[in-house]
Amino acid sequence: MAKIAFIGLGNMGGPMAANLVKSGHQVTVFDLVDAAMDAVVAQGANKAATALEALAGADTVITMLPAGKHVAGLYLGDGGLIAKASTGTLFMDCSTIDADTAKRVGEAAAAKGLQMLDAPVSGGVKAAQAGTLAFMCGGDAVAFARGKLVLEGMGKNIFHAGDHGAGQIAKICNNMLLAVHMIGTAEALQLGANNGLDPRVLSEIMLNSSGKNWSLENYNPYPDVMPTAPASNEYKPGFMVQLMLKDLGLAMENSLVTQSSVPMGSLARSLYASFSQKGNAQRDFSAILEMFQS
Ligand code: NAD
Repeated sequence: MAKIAFIGLGNMGGPMAANLVKSGHQVTVFDLVDAAMDAVVAQGANKAATALEALAGADTVITMLPAGKHVAGLYLGDGGLIAKASTGTLFMDCSTIDADTAKRVGEAAAAKGLQMLDAPVSGGVKAAQAGTLAFMCGGDAVAFARGKLVLEGMGKNIFHAGDHGAGQIAKICNNMLLAVHMIGTAEALQLGANNGLDPRVLSEIMLNSSGKNWSLENYNPYPDVMPTAPASNEYKPGFMVQLMLKDLGLAMENSLVTQSSVPMGSLARSLYASFSQKGNAQRDFSAILEMFQS
């Protein structure tokens, strides 16, 4: 069993750390917000007063932070995790951040002889609680083989995408595609409804035709087609518009760096930005269907 330092215990990190405790690992937690640690400590984790205190004695360090600046701030510099870690430490950053920062931090760890994976997740808070997250990892094969044993305590599908930063690239590609097929699904269902079709019937037809896709199958954006979907529960998240917008922003930034043509992703980002500005930032991302209702 690993001795794990888990840093960043928000909506995702809290339940992820709790699952590692349940898997039998020795877990020490730290978050800037004291209250965020309580639920995990109640389940058997140890509490540290600082990130460096959590690091001391850990063989594996997992971080789940909001954005790239938080990750760079914690890992890099003279007082950072990389500078202070002992030989043999494995770092796994599960945050969704820009691939450049993931690469920079991963290479800084490698330069000190430490193992590091960027390991962003797919699946929201429910998957974090259920231990069914998907992990997309970037780093070398040795670090991946070691990290996978720990990630299995928090998820089901664990992929090795490539070298440092590759996990983050896989994540932005996936979420850009998710945004595009969610919007496409919403506009198709609304077009049908505008013509008097029952969205339940239309959904069934498309599920058995070439329009079948993940959003239609698991996350129908039209209210009352799928009782468990956010659309049938006042679009309570789920996966918030502001998080989708963050991921689309990362995809667009990367497309500039790599001079990639991403017209569908670019339009999806604009639509989500406009929808978010109209007071929808914290609603589920499938609420974008309302943009097509007038
Ligand atoms: P969150 O804001 O709820 O949690 C982040 C936590 O990090 C907070 O508790 C904050 O206090 C802590 N933190 C920030 N800086 C810190 C530092 N220097 N030291 C210690 N703690 C620090 O965010 P979340 O919803 O848990 O998401 C975390 C990451 O996972 C994000 O990158 C997000 O994009 C990604 N993600 C979220 C979801 C989701 O559905 N919420 C799904 C997939 C991926």
